[in-house]
Amino acid sequence: MDTPSHLSVILDLSPTQWALSAQSTNPPGISLETFLSQLLAFLNAHIACKDENTLAVFGALPGESVLLYSSTGEVTASDDGPTDSNTYRPFKTLDATVMKSLAERLESFGDAAEEAPIGIVGCMTKALCYINRITSNTTAAGPNEDGPTASIDPRILVLSVSPDQSSTYIPIMNSIFSAQKLKVTIDVCKIFGADNVFLQQAAHLTGGAYVQVDRTDALLQYMMMSFLPPPAIRQLIAVPTQDRVDFRAACFCHKRIVEIGFVCSVCLSIFCQPVPVCSTCRTKFPIKTLQRLNASRPPAASLSSAPGTPARPLAHRNGTATPATPRPG
Ligand SMILES: [Zn+2]
Ligand SMILES: [Zn+2]
Repeated sequence: MDTPSHLSVILDLSPTQWALSAQSTNPPGISLETFLSQLLAFLNAHIACKDENTLAVFGALPGESVLLYSSTGEVTASDDGPTDSNTYRPFKTLDATVMKSLAERLESFGDAAEEAPIGIVGCMTKALCYINRITSNTTAAGPNEDGPTASIDPRILVLSVSPDQSSTYIPIMNSIFSAQKLKVTIDVCKIFGADNVFLQQAAHLTGGAYVQVDRTDALLQYMMMSFLPPPAIRQLIAVPTQDRVDFRAACFCHKRIVEIGFVCSVCLSIFCQPVPVCSTCRTKFPIKTLQRLNASRPPAASLSSAPGTPARPLAHRNGTATPATPRPG
């Protein structure tokens, strides 16, 4: 319970989605400005909880992902403002650094006609690399008196406003597997817009919380109650859990989210229709199997029902509903 905690926050900074959120009246949205002021209060609370707590803030912008702040000091804070005796210095450094790097990024971002896909996955992988570095640093420091178990308790919090991008299914799943291996919990706070299928799965598979914010005027309260306590303490408090997780996957061939998929029995690649040859591992399937699977497919009209249908293996049914192992196709 007394271990320090690392928090990597991923901010979804899609200009389009934030503009929509600010204009939204039903349900009432939240502007980026209000969001940032509440976010800074939350980040200050995290570093105030324990002196050894560490923090990294990543910004997901269209087509790129950037580190906006890290408590190990990769992003230098300008310390030119007048010293305020009423402000706790780490708070001031944090706030100034986040706002300054954010302003720089948003300024350099021109109003391109078409918005590139938002860099959530890039932020996730950078956050995992960052966590891997700081955790291996603490273990490399040698076995201290507390033993090798005394390490930081890392987690990632994704603050999302953008819809799913089905093209990012494979990198997101690979990030989830890395997070599971590193024992990193991924929490997701959906501030605006419809549910994210892949982020729901990320939270579910890493033991994190997925919270859809119903009242944006209480955003800070949501964050404080759900995401401030480190995962070790959450067994003792009631953090909102998901009563229903959308387990749909995206096919490797068209990157579409599918309800019924066909899984290669050799490499576990997912396809939206039975294929004679797996495009990933080049395994050939018997023509009899293809005919049988094609015959058993429901008509196209009924495909929209029954979300969360487990994917079917192509060559044989193994009955497991584990997610397929994505790998580059
Ligand atoms: Zn497909
Ligand atoms: Zn295959």
